[in-house]
Amino acid sequence: MRVCLTGGAGYIGSHILVGLLEDGHDVLVVDNFANSSPKSLDQVRIITRSSFEVLDQDICNSGVLSEALSSFRPDIVIHCAGLKAVGESQEQPLRYYRTNVEGSISLLEAMDQAGCQRIIFSSSATVYGTPRYLPYDEAHPVAPVNVYGRTKAMIEDIITDWAATDPGRSAALLRYFNPVGAHESGEIGEDPKGIPNNLVPYIADVATGMRTELSIFGNDYDTRDGTGVRDYIHITDLADGHIAAMAFLEGNQGVETFNLGAGEGSSVLEVVKAFSRASNQSISYVIKPRRDGDVSESVANSSKANDVLAWKADRTLEAMCADVWRWRSRYPRGFDG
Ligand code: NAD
Ligand code: UDP
Repeated sequence: MRVCLTGGAGYIGSHILVGLLEDGHDVLVVDNFANSSPKSLDQVRIITRSSFEVLDQDICNSGVLSEALSSFRPDIVIHCAGLKAVGESQEQPLRYYRTNVEGSISLLEAMDQAGCQRIIFSSSATVYGTPRYLPYDEAHPVAPVNVYGRTKAMIEDIITDWAATDPGRSAALLRYFNPVGAHESGEIGEDPKGIPNNLVPYIADVATGMRTELSIFGNDYDTRDGTGVRDYIHITDLADGHIAAMAFLEGNQGVETFNLGAGEGSSVLEVVKAFSRASNQSISYVIKPRRDGDVSESVANSSKANDVLAWKADRTLEAMCADVWRWRSRYPRGFDG
């Protein structure tokens, strides 16, 4: 198939790109490298020994996007481009609405021009907000508690309304839980700029000696050891979920929402221990107060994706940590180091 992959140079996009190329698809990556390095694409070329097209453009640039899609004529778009930092979204809401929401509208318009009727969208478990029950299933109310989550919920609605206007259109809205890990080659992985917000990249910085200690945000939650519980999913399992969604959309119309998670929670302390074992490094930490806006627990019910997409996240937390360690041992400073 001909696949347009927005955000293909980013953490998740680059792993999806590997999967697409390994399956023999023709790919056009659209990315303006706002939060990634072109080197990730070079590494993908090395891993897969394949080539693909790249458009270095902002997805909000609708004229250029329309021209590029009309010339490439994708059968499907996988839409990963966007801004994703919750704290930053609270400080710069308009930038987040413009990039995420306006960028998605511009993309759908370009798809219309190019006659492309299928899209897979990178959504997030953040759309659920405070859990009313756990594990979250897709019927859980959507009630995001921050700007980032609201952009994701809005885009889900926009795609749903777009698809409703033509029975030939179809969409998969994939709500990711906590993606971690790296490609097993150790050649691509997560490369956050500045101080990492997320747990595993921060732990990896401590393990490589770049930072002295991890701050654990709260040990007084109502969880098995008091620290926050999340559903960590290996990045390669997440990428495989997109390949499964592509196959599903080939035979189905309309819009479907799927949780992509492992269906199992791990606490912060459990992740610290697993990473310490995988890296053979001790991870110093201090307990700090709870972080604003954090929920105590977020775990997916992914049985819909398991049944309908015939997909399951089965790589373990140990594998996630070992793969991150391999990537960070080779590239302690990410793509630029
Ligand atoms: P990332 O920042 O590594 O990748 C996003 C990519 O989009 C980057 O390469 C960036 O340069 C590109 N981009 C940003 N703005 C752009 C624009 N205006 N035009 C063109 N390209 C642009 O993030 P990621 O972790 O790979 O996330 C990919 C998607 O998955 C995002 O939409 C994110 O919201 C979503 N998501 C991520 C997580 C997570 O924990 N990583 C969880 C849930 C959902
Ligand atoms: N966390 C932490 N220290 C950090 C970063 C995160 O204790 O430096 C905790 C956080 O409170 C949460 C878990 O680790 O319980 C996962 O946080 P992350 O930011 O990775 O993901 P999200 O909050 O989006 O689920």
